[in-house]
Amino acid sequence: MTAEFISVGTELLLGNIVNTNAQYLSQKCAELGLSVYYQVTVGDNEKRLEATIKHAINRSDVVILTGGLGPTEDDLTKETVAKAIGRKLETNEESLELIKSYFAKRKATIAANNYKQAEVIEGAIVLQNGNGTAPGQIVEDEGTLIILLPGPPNEMKPMFEEQVFPYLRKKNKYSLYSKMVKITGIGESSVEMAIKDLIDKQTNPTIAPYAKASEVNLRITASAKSESVAEALIAPIIEELRIRFGNKIFTTQEDETLAMVVVKLLNQKGLKVSTAESITGGLIVTKLTDCPGASNVIEKAYITYSDQAKEDELLVPSKLIEKYGVVSAETAEAMARGLYNKTGSDVTLGITGVYTRNIVLPGNRAKVREDAAINALDLIRISIQ
Ligand code: ATP
Repeated sequence: MTAEFISVGTELLLGNIVNTNAQYLSQKCAELGLSVYYQVTVGDNEKRLEATIKHAINRSDVVILTGGLGPTEDDLTKETVAKAIGRKLETNEESLELIKSYFAKRKATIAANNYKQAEVIEGAIVLQNGNGTAPGQIVEDEGTLIILLPGPPNEMKPMFEEQVFPYLRKKNKYSLYSKMVKITGIGESSVEMAIKDLIDKQTNPTIAPYAKASEVNLRITASAKSESVAEALIAPIIEELRIRFGNKIFTTQEDETLAMVVVKLLNQKGLKVSTAESITGGLIVTKLTDCPGASNVIEKAYITYSDQAKEDELLVPSKLIEKYGVVSAETAEAMARGLYNKTGSDVTLGITGVYTRNIVLPGNRAKVREDAAINALDLIRISIQ
């Protein structure tokens, strides 16, 4: 089923408030397996609102409107939906009683226009509002579900969670299930080129790439009636990706990071690691220590930033640094060797600023560090796999 949101309110168009309702509804619809194709924001203007509603019900299975259900003159949502689908408004007795008791509890006088809030579109399922006065509504019109919700998030969210979510869960037989394939050691465009044919012919499941620092994630999503059916749809795609990317795929677990994979592998193989970092300033060992099981596998961690520290702590000969420079493969190797001689660890990693040109650019330091750390972790992963 496809879904579309219409956020109603001139204050949204003016930038006075941020459209957090749309973000919330997007996440909930994804959970429900609804495909959100459009999100429209429209001001409190009857003509434009009516045109927007008509357009939406023509192209979407579920149309969710938020805002404009209040008692004032510029609250036009239900009147305009009623007009667009040719229905009348009628008073909902239960809502009327709730509005009366809402005001009685607060010892406030009920204004004439508050009675207007008890009016609903004929034939609507009424969603009572436990946190305000405007009821929500679900109207079915020629196969389209039109859902009207109040604008204030503290009213809209509980109403959606408690009443709309279970309703849509029943209506939508299909849910979305997804698996993540995480790749490193190859850039985003090369990944996309390598799977262009799969992306071009995708229907169900779909493959969505997105790039993170030194990592490309592919989300494989299937729409299915049950998890086992979805898994059967997703499995051959993952198989195919394994053929194409080999051990560049470091995990298919949503929550697993590269550092976690490295710590897991070190644990499985009973290996210990020591690190000597320069440019990355401890980032690599920080990533490793963040992972469960790190205490079994990390032996020593040095930050040898200056030349002197490399000489003193890792016994890198000063002549070697003079000859090749501090930023060189030779120095990095000497750091790793020195570390091995000192610690006897199974895996020793020496990392120095091999991306010299990048680090002198202001603002790029964090990215260079992150890239260097990811590459170093991947180097460990590949060497012990
Ligand atoms: P009320 O009964 O309070 O008048 P309503 O359904 O008429 O509710 P609006 O008048 O459109 O809703 O909006 C009321 C308030 O709700 C806004 O001032 C804003 O604070 C919040 N709101 C409305 N729409 C959104 C949105 N899309 N995202 C976040 N907040 C919103």
